[in-house]
Amino acid sequence: MRKPIIAGNWKMNNTQKEAVELITALKPRLKDVGKTEVVVCVPYTCIEKVKKAVRGSKIKVGAENVAWADKGAFTGEISAAMLKEVGAEYVIIGHSERRQYFGETDESVNKRTVQALKNDLKPIVCIGETLDEREEGKTNAVLKTQIEGAFAGFTQDDIKKVVIAYEPVWAIGTGKTATSEQANESIKFIRKTLAKLFTRPVANKVRIQYGGSMNAKNAHELMSMSDIDGGLIGGASLKAEDFEKVVKFNG
Ligand code: PEP
Repeated sequence: MRKPIIAGNWKMNNTQKEAVELITALKPRLKDVGKTEVVVCVPYTCIEKVKKAVRGSKIKVGAENVAWADKGAFTGEISAAMLKEVGAEYVIIGHSERRQYFGETDESVNKRTVQALKNDLKPIVCIGETLDEREEGKTNAVLKTQIEGAFAGFTQDDIKKVVIAYEPVWAIGTGKTATSEQANESIKFIRKTLAKLFTRPVANKVRIQYGGSMNAKNAHELMSMSDIDGGLIGGASLKAEDFEKVVKFNG
């Protein structure tokens, strides 16, 4: 039985003051979340404050990226050890916005994920096809390439520590959600690909989220699908009321 995981991705939103206000509003709303694991992935500058603000709650804190090197001449990068130091537990890697605007590749996603695991950070690795790729019938081929690239050289133990977020690029921030069947079908394909690489029992242990305009209205249906284990939530994670409803997808 895989434990559901709902993670907010704040992206480049919230100053420290706004971050603390949002967590203060979320805490009483997320007192009773059952067995669902709840994470907020926040800008680097907010991690330490948010970590303090979530004290006394079950909310976990993550970052939105991590460097692929330990340390050194990499201006603007933040290492896994630095994230650990300020209290991050999770880290998003390979988000489509990083791939689209900052040139990240499956190879850099692989190296960043290795760094995260080496430093005991839990990676949330994002994969997903563009609209053109889906319309050209290439969805599965794209997902297979991304999986093989991101997890090259991984052991069975490594992959069990990873959360994968299936995020069709055309559904992110657009208000267009994949239907629950489309999302489940792609996630089943991801699991099948993992089974080929790491064995079926291992693949069955890996948690796979859906991400892409998931909100209060569609969370229940998406989460009731066989292979969807959680959600990576952008827009709807920025308002306490909306995020609460997604986290409490069971009503
Ligand atoms: C995301 O940024 O990962 C995301 C899914 O965004 P949104 O929920 O706004 O589509």
